[in-house]
Amino acid sequence: MAGTKFAYVKNFELPDPLLPGTYILLRLDGHGFHRLSQDHDFVKPNDERALQLMDHAARDIMHEFKDVVLAFGESDEYSFLFRKSTTLYNRREAKILTTVTSLFTSSYVLNWPRYFPNSSLKYCPSFDGRIVLYPSEKEVRDYFAWRQADTHINNLYNTTFWALVQQGGQTTTEAHATLRGTVSKEKHELLFSRFGVNYNTIPERYRKGSVLVREEVAGHEPSGTAESAPAEDKCATSGSGAEASEVRVEHTQGTKKSKKPKVQTHIQLYHCDVIEQAFWGARPYLLE
Ligand code: ATP
Ligand code: ATP
Ligand code: MG
Ligand code: MG
Ligand code: MG
Ligand code: MG
Repeated sequence: MAGTKFAYVKNFELPDPLLPGTYILLRLDGHGFHRLSQDHDFVKPNDERALQLMDHAARDIMHEFKDVVLAFGESDEYSFLFRKSTTLYNRREAKILTTVTSLFTSSYVLNWPRYFPNSSLKYCPSFDGRIVLYPSEKEVRDYFAWRQADTHINNLYNTTFWALVQQGGQTTTEAHATLRGTVSKEKHELLFSRFGVNYNTIPERYRKGSVLVREEVAGHEPSGTAESAPAEDKCATSGSGAEASEVRVEHTQGTKKSKKPKVQTHIQLYHCDVIEQAFWGARPYLLE
């Protein structure tokens, strides 16, 4: 068709390459999930099924796009970090963003019945997406720290809020008013003194979010076992936060040009601290 007199319209399409040698960070966020969570009776403050469904869709992204080395999820959002050397779709921004966003969305819909067997989707969920480029390791680490700090702040607020409503008998308006202007320490105290809840015993999934890491497999065993990981790395495979579920070993082959040996990787789910240096110190390859 290229030769027709109409083909000139193709020239109106502008190139949109992402700057080479920078970290591509892609974040998705559910559209109108406050309402979607109400319409589908999500457990408040944290519906574990919904979080597991998000993790499942994020895993599907990492299975499809091998240059995604790390992902972080909380609530209705997920962030994906690409290797800075990725040449996926020649680094075309729209191609990357729309393909990842639509694959995530279709996986969310396809797998919904698995996590919500008794509640069918009432309408089509959608996700917005954006790509941000970061120039150095510092911004990438601070990005993930920012999202995890957000998880913590939101979860502390929501946990206290819903305790006031569900156990304290307050209306949602009253609960908002009770919490207005309170600092973190006061919320901890309120939870403990009025509801006997020690915040630090709430599941790590809720307090720290989900961390999906592409890890190299040493021999045929997952790397980062309790024995081989540095002692201070709390994100080790056998550590408390790890979930070994659905580990699919992948064969990542180096490009033919570089003739790199086959490297087996798998995707590991943690609910661990990414703010601390230990997480990054144990996985320098994430930022290479
Ligand atoms: P927007 O379209 O602007 O993103 P939104 O309604 O999706 O609006 P967010 O700020 O993204 O608002 O917040 C997502 C909301 O979805 C949360 O505030 C919460 O009410 C709900 N939600 C998401 N995941 C869960 C979950 N696992 N359990 C309970 N509620 C959830
Ligand atoms: P890319 O990911 O680059 O878009 P592609 O494989 O989707 O690659 P396209 O140029 O978009 O390639 O072409 C879509 C192809 O999908 C068509 O060439 C055809 O093979 C197939 N296809 C799409 N719709 C139909 C249809 N209704 N019936 C039969 N084949 C179809
Ligand atoms: Mg939003
Ligand atoms: Mg949202
Ligand atoms: Mg959100
Ligand atoms: Mg096509």
